[in-house]
Amino acid sequence: MNFFIKRAALANIEQLAREGFPYEICGFLGGSVLGQAIELKPTRNISGQPQVEYNIAPEQTLETLLAFEVRGMKLTGVYHSHPRYPARPSQTDIRLADLPGVMYLITSVYENNNGTLDCETRAYRIEKGRAHETKLEVI
Ligand SMILES: [Zn+2]
Repeated sequence: MNFFIKRAALANIEQLAREGFPYEICGFLGGSVLGQAIELKPTRNISGQPQVEYNIAPEQTLETLLAFEVRGMKLTGVYHSHPRYPARPSQTDIRLADLPGVMYLITSVYENNNGTLDCETRAYRIEKGRAHETKLEVI
C-alpha cells in the first residue's frame, strides 16, 4: 500500500531538514485516514546526540494526538531527517518505532557540489523489528 503525502507537506519537511542540518529534525504527520499525510506538526528533537538520532518527548506525542483528534484527524506518520546519511532506518529507528499503522518518513540531507543541500525522502512501514519500504506518492 502506498503512502500519499501533500506536496506542500513534503516540501515543508525538506525545508525543515535543510534548516536543521547538521542536526536531525523530527515531527508528526496528520491526515484524515491512515495512509495519507495532509499536514505536519514539527516537534523538538530531545536526543542527547541530535546529529545521529532523534527522540520525541512522550508528552509531545500525546499533545499531537489530541490536537489532531479534536479536528477529526489521525496521526498517520512520523518524519525525521538523516544529515549526511542515507534515507533508510537505522537500528535505533527500528527499535524505537512503536506507533502501529503509522508510516515512518526519513529525509536524507546532504551537501551537493554547489554548496547547497539536497534532500531525498523515503517512507517505511516498521513492524516487529523490520522495515519495509513503501512508495511515497505526492498528491
Ligand atoms: Zn533515523
